Amino acid sequence: MRYVILGLGVAGVTAAKTIRQLDKDAEIDLFTDEMVYYYARPKLFDVIHKRLSSREIYFYGPDWYIKNRFKLHFGVKAVKIDAKEHSVTFDDGITVKYDKLLIANGAHAFVPPIKGADKQGVFTLRTLKDAFDIRDYSAYIGNGSPVAVVGGGVLGLEAAHSFRLNKLNPTVIEFAPYLLPRQLDKEGAGILRKIFENAGIQIKTSSKTEAFEGSSAVDKVLLGSGETLPAKMVLLSTGVRSNIDLLKNSDLPFNRGALVDDYLKLQDSEDIFAAGDIAEYKGRVYGIIPPAIEQATVAGKNMVKEGSAEYHGSVMSNTLKVAGIDLTSVGIINPENKEEYEEIRSEAPAEGKYRKIVLKDGKAVGGISLGMKGEGVPLTKFVKAGKDLSNFKEKLKDINFSLKEIK
Ligand SMILES: Cc1cc2nc3c(=O)[nH]c(=O)nc-3n(C[C@H](O)[C@H](O)[C@H](O)COP(=O)(O)OP(=O)(O)OC[C@H]3O[C@@H](n4cnc5c(N)ncnc54)[C@H](O)[C@@H]3O)c2cc1C
Repeated sequence: MRYVILGLGVAGVTAAKTIRQLDKDAEIDLFTDEMVYYYARPKLFDVIHKRLSSREIYFYGPDWYIKNRFKLHFGVKAVKIDAKEHSVTFDDGITVKYDKLLIANGAHAFVPPIKGADKQGVFTLRTLKDAFDIRDYSAYIGNGSPVAVVGGGVLGLEAAHSFRLNKLNPTVIEFAPYLLPRQLDKEGAGILRKIFENAGIQIKTSSKTEAFEGSSAVDKVLLGSGETLPAKMVLLSTGVRSNIDLLKNSDLPFNRGALVDDYLKLQDSEDIFAAGDIAEYKGRVYGIIPPAIEQATVAGKNMVKEGSAEYHGSVMSNTLKVAGIDLTSVGIINPENKEEYEEIRSEAPAEGKYRKIVLKDGKAVGGISLGMKGEGVPLTKFVKAGKDLSNFKEKLKDINFSLKEIK
């Protein structure tokens, strides 16, 4: 049996491991358009500020791939899938046959149509190469330089923190009225903002980025208000888009991502599966690692034995990985039909602490924990399990009570 996997990200590698466990004799080929072994993308910040080399962030060394008999193909981009012929064609003109195919080609950083976005010094961060380019450019513009991060989401804030550690002076520009609009509420975001400002990171909310100016390289950012900010480097951190061109070229079903069913099988097709940032399940492209792992595990199992595993969606969870800041946001945090939910808040703004638990019929469906060491794990566990917290409602109003105390 020949399994072909398009993508050497977390989804591709997880599926390959799953298949190898179940089928010792399988031929497993992994293709990537990058030139490097699998690495975890969150590590890219360490490349920027800890100056790690590519070797230091590889998840597995070359021996691991050999031991598992995974055949790797670097620097090749899949351009077309012929579902009838069971074949994939790559940009070097080679066509490869498969028995089972996994599309795990992920996503790319979205570049909004901002004037001057093509100027030297304007970057996005998705790949190891991007991280090296940003690191080199940071050194080139020199310590103390003003830089801008467009987008105050998790990635934007982590990048701003990396820039600060690199002795640059970052300003985060966010269109929404507060930081982390998808992970926080207004109250929590206000506390987080103070923490970042105290760390030397400027924050501009309710701000539209109009243009990047400078003769050839960027040197300032023009905001919608007419204000200009000096910036010798800009990072666009404005979301990602699934790499759907391959599906478009191949007449395969896609919307925002590749449309998959409960088996991670591509709709209306035979022997093709999809997982990770490329997959759209019930209208949702998750864009984070835990669902990519869950999906790839289910896809891998079904590639070996169809119908052997089912997927029913993942709980959204985000942790801000900035030293000294403990922030976890899980599940439903800003419910739309407020009357169906109960929100229990507690805070100590001066200490940078904030917690919100969202309950439905007494059961945990979402929450935010900021500044409370060690609460991220129990919070995520409770929301994933839908734990009944109705007996703890009073205690949860006390910021000094820790979720760790709930068994
Ligand atoms: C800087 C950064 C930090 C992040 N931090 C977190 C975090 O802390 N927590 C979290 O949960 N998520 C985080 N994410 C998101 C997370 O990395 C993604 O959800 C995850 O990488 C998705 O994995 P994937 O395998 O689906 O896709 P990808 O990681 O995008 O991998 C896709 C692979 O396919 C290859 N490819 C693409 N097109 C083709 C083609 N046509 N032919 C062949 N190969 C192709 C790519 O080169 C790559 O090898 C972060 C992302 C970034 C960029």
